[in-house]
Amino acid sequence: MVSSLADIRANRRIMAYTAAAIFGIAGFDGVIEGFLPGDPPYSLLPVAVVCVMAALMAAVGPRVPRRGMALLGPLGVALIAYSLATTPGPGDAAILYALPAFWTTFFFGRRGAAAIVTCTAIGQAVALLLMPAADSYPGRWLDVMVSVCGVVLVVLVLERRNEMLLARLASEARTDPLTGLLNRRGFDELAARELAHLGRDGSRIALATLDIDHFKQVNDEWGHIVGDRVLANLARMLAGEARVIDVAARLGGEEFVVLMPGNDAAGAESFIERVRAGLEASAGDDMPLVRISAGVVATSEPLDPQLMLECVDRALYAAKRGGRDRTVVLGGRDFELAA
Ligand code: GH3
Ligand code: MG
Ligand code: MG
Repeated sequence: MVSSLADIRANRRIMAYTAAAIFGIAGFDGVIEGFLPGDPPYSLLPVAVVCVMAALMAAVGPRVPRRGMALLGPLGVALIAYSLATTPGPGDAAILYALPAFWTTFFFGRRGAAAIVTCTAIGQAVALLLMPAADSYPGRWLDVMVSVCGVVLVVLVLERRNEMLLARLASEARTDPLTGLLNRRGFDELAARELAHLGRDGSRIALATLDIDHFKQVNDEWGHIVGDRVLANLARMLAGEARVIDVAARLGGEEFVVLMPGNDAAGAESFIERVRAGLEASAGDDMPLVRISAGVVATSEPLDPQLMLECVDRALYAAKRGGRDRTVVLGGRDFELAA
């Protein structure tokens, strides 16, 4: 299962451990620079603080509330600004502003982005004001702001694109590509929601299952491509006759279901008759006339979706056994017995 951005953002372990890694990298950088030849002397305070923060985040970070984590970005900015202000020469530590900008935008979205850009603007301005005049010029503030805004924009755009791709994947995983109706997974999820609702407000619900009669013969005589068109045509009829609140799906092969909240057995039967009439009307030279068998159950009791599907399958089986091209309604005692 692919996690959504919201899931990742709500995961404090991921937040804490990525923050620990970023503080750790910054601390490592600070320690290593101490051993490199030619580096100007610099304050060890920010290096010590990031090392402590890395250890703290790794140890207890997941227990810190999200609000507390929101302070990590501004803390990082303050440490970078302090380090810039206290290190002689032009320095290149300003590139480290990209780290809090990236992390805060990723976990806190647009509001986080606005906050961290503002913090960076203030932090860098203060750092420049505290520097000797020779090292302090407006271009250094502008360079930082352009870079940080660039980082923030790239993160926001990639996040948005990722979200759209995930939404498309989720929708495709629940859609039957041939008919555009929900597939089994999509139906199960929506049906469970509808039936849970039924338990609360006591209204009724009908479920119909439809199966094309002798569909194998259609494929054999007309070919698979026409068979596919027949399936798509039936799906169009179902979608056209269904109300907005109905849930139509292709469960597989040539078997379809329609869940009708607020409907009773008679309403479901008349729905199926309308579909039959539509199939007859659409038959022609390039569209074979197909008949359908159907099973219907209706209830006002909260029911397990799987049990309802089992019951409606029995009704469909009875329709097939009874000679096809008919609807069998399972209700009253039959339904109780089946349940
Ligand atoms: P019955 O009246 O008992 O339902 O008989 P039937 O021939 O409709 O049922 P059966 O289960 O024997 O055959 C179903 C056929 O549906 C066989 C399979 O090739 C065909 N089928 C399943 N999925 C598709 C599909 O996506 N496209 C096409 N063209 N045919 C399909
Ligand atoms: Mg069939
Ligand atoms: Mg079948």
